[in-house]
Amino acid sequence: MNERYLKRLQVRPGMKVRLGEYNTGWAQNDALKEAGKEAVKERAMEILEENRAQLASAQELLWASNTYAVLIILQGMDTAGKDGTIKHVMSGVNPQGCKVQSFRVPTEEELDHTFLWRYWKALPNRGEIGIFNRSYYEDVLVVKVHPERLVNLPPGKRGKKFWNARYEDINAFERHLIRNGTVILKFYLHISKDEQKKRLLERLQDREKLWKFSLSDLEERKFWDIYQEVYEDALTMTSTEMAPWYIIPADHKWVARTLIAEIITTKIRSLDLAYPTLSGESMAQLKEARRHLEEEEEE
Ligand code: ADP
Repeated sequence: MNERYLKRLQVRPGMKVRLGEYNTGWAQNDALKEAGKEAVKERAMEILEENRAQLASAQELLWASNTYAVLIILQGMDTAGKDGTIKHVMSGVNPQGCKVQSFRVPTEEELDHTFLWRYWKALPNRGEIGIFNRSYYEDVLVVKVHPERLVNLPPGKRGKKFWNARYEDINAFERHLIRNGTVILKFYLHISKDEQKKRLLERLQDREKLWKFSLSDLEERKFWDIYQEVYEDALTMTSTEMAPWYIIPADHKWVARTLIAEIITTKIRSLDLAYPTLSGESMAQLKEARRHLEEEEEE
């Protein structure tokens, strides 16, 4: 896939994000528009398939070389497609080297620690791909929309200074992880308000999807514009050279999944990982082991 196009999805550090300027649909440029939706979709599905296979082998290599961990962060409005992305993008990956963690409203115990504590504990080990379905970004998103949910903290104003300190903490946390061998990929699944309405209605109309419907999603939808603003702030303040945000057009699930799979595989490939090489001595030992087995008498 065109690297320049993928780069365009990245939020340049220091740039003020205005989500209204980002397309949520499939026709991202004139060339795609000209090719037509069906042709683009067909090619996208092929790329997704190729990437699934590549991701499976990239993950084996990640595991064998045991040097890096990969942390994938998925954020987005309700119904943006976080669960489906995990299911479809990671479907070929060996579950042993992959861990998915979803974050809900913090427990009492979690609230009795600093806001990064629960995420620290859930980080992937070296060699693993860890996926955060929601993340510490919730602590500058949902709680910024609903500041009454900030509890057990020392008194003080919850103004600009307070939130800037949180962005700073997040940037420092990520810098520390990256310096110590964690690759961080951050995706914001960008859907339109109309698409959310469509997906919520689908959940209500389809018996098999009913369980996914939550009245709280409808409540949160009322805060759509405020959410867009706090997302803009978070994306602006925490897109860094080392850990940039990607704004992924997500009104079409196949678009989002293909792009995310492509970005993850491209990133892991760029690490230039190699299977561990053995010393001459170890090779000699293995040769000896093989000779032993081959000479073993058949029972
Ligand atoms: P999902 O919507 O991800 O499928 P749930 O329906 O269980 O899962 O929703 C999780 C809820 O937890 C969301 O409403 C989200 O805003 C909330 N949440 C996650 N992290 C935090 C946090 N740090 N503080 C407050 N609420 C949070």
